Amino acid sequence: MAAAAAAKVQEVREITRIERVGAHSHIRGLGLDDSLEARHVSQGMVGQVSARRAAGVVLQMVRDGKIAGRAVLLAGQPGTGKTAIATALASALGYDTPFTSMAGSEIYSLEMSKSMALTQAIRKSIGVRIKEESEIIEGEVVEVQIERPAAAEGTKVGKLILKTTDMETVYDLGGKMIDSILKEKVQSGDVITIDKATGKITRLGRSFTRARDYDATGQQTRFVQCPEGELQKRKEVVHTVTLHEIDVINSRAHGFLALFSGDTGEIKPEVREQINGKVAEWREEGKAEIIPGVLFIDEVHMLDIECFSFLNRALENEMSPIVMIATNRGITRIRGTTYKSPHGIPLDLLDRLIIIPTVPYDQKELQEILSIRCEEEDCQLSDEALTILTRISMETSLRYGIQLITTSSLIARKRKAPEVQMEDVKRAYELFLDEGRSVQFLKEYQQEFMFNENDEDESQME
Ligand code: ATP
Repeated sequence: MAAAAAAKVQEVREITRIERVGAHSHIRGLGLDDSLEARHVSQGMVGQVSARRAAGVVLQMVRDGKIAGRAVLLAGQPGTGKTAIATALASALGYDTPFTSMAGSEIYSLEMSKSMALTQAIRKSIGVRIKEESEIIEGEVVEVQIERPAAAEGTKVGKLILKTTDMETVYDLGGKMIDSILKEKVQSGDVITIDKATGKITRLGRSFTRARDYDATGQQTRFVQCPEGELQKRKEVVHTVTLHEIDVINSRAHGFLALFSGDTGEIKPEVREQINGKVAEWREEGKAEIIPGVLFIDEVHMLDIECFSFLNRALENEMSPIVMIATNRGITRIRGTTYKSPHGIPLDLLDRLIIIPTVPYDQKELQEILSIRCEEEDCQLSDEALTILTRISMETSLRYGIQLITTSSLIARKRKAPEVQMEDVKRAYELFLDEGRSVQFLKEYQQEFMFNENDEDESQME
């Protein structure tokens, strides 16, 4: 029995482990100290110190919560950690600050117009913190009855009679309430509280009126000074949802189940307007607060001129998140036009962006990132293997180097070696081409491929 349970735990751990290893799973935060200075290696982040410090300032802006509608551009060569920094920022945000991440190309879908896709992404990035009052009732237990059928026969049922100053109330008990009654060993004469929102029952002690403990001589030995009778308390419960979630729940066409399938389709503008009105009302009544989160759009050069102008307008709205965009393009054509501009972003939008540049890594930083990745992927590399892997990454790219960790460790495992050696890295390097060698290969064998368009102007390739 215990062995089976242990096996189960093991299995669960294995699954968690598999899920955890993604491209950025080694990143746990921006690695900043209290004064927002970046530590050289911290929380899985290495180097790129100024960009991380700048991201720390953005983080502070988001935390202050009041500044909406700012846009930040992360610009730098491929593999310089733009997405890594955005991921780090996301994990540093509070648990209820929304963070939405998407690639520019995701807005081109058949099911939704571009503006709808952007609107939904924006509304997913704005949180509404709703305050609700929950009632907590305190009183003395007159009687508890719990029927406990055999385990196989369905749920437990029960009743509880609670005396408050002016009345006795009978509560039908659900499974959770019964569990907490049994856990707290509640019996008649106890003073308890019931949280009406969650059904949680807490035992405070014995009632002054009923607690009579006698010792062998018949002497009364203990009174617990619990207030007798009713005490009704109010407690504030806070939920945070996103504007998009409120839209979906209130959209008759979809209903809340769409939140799980992600199949929300178009949401009517009327619904959104109604929700905006309602949220504004709640804000005035002090029942709700808006939390601007972060919308991260990677490969932003994939957006076209219409999307850029939509974004530009959306940023002016008071309910706008902080928009963070990233690109590795230099001066390039703005999609949907014949004009070129820096990063393929129109000048009017560029003008309102705060730009954070990312710079290429030096050899030591690359080695550090690679060894963090080895640890993340549970790969043991010999010192020589790590050195050669770093050299390969310098000459090709960090991403290619990271790919070689997994492949060379598989090769090492095949020959039953406990540690990846230099020869395994070399073998993986020979088996899998990096971008440079792949282009070389294509040039050499171009005649043998189909649809060869090498004669056309290369600048037309996106
Ligand atoms: P692209 O322009 O191609 O999208 P990028 O700048 O977004 O590239 P990333 O995807 O962030 O680059 O980085 C490539 C890989 O290197 C990722 O696995 C990332 O987690 C890791 N990485 C990059 N920079 C750092 C860093 N400073 N510290 C730790 N890991 C990093």
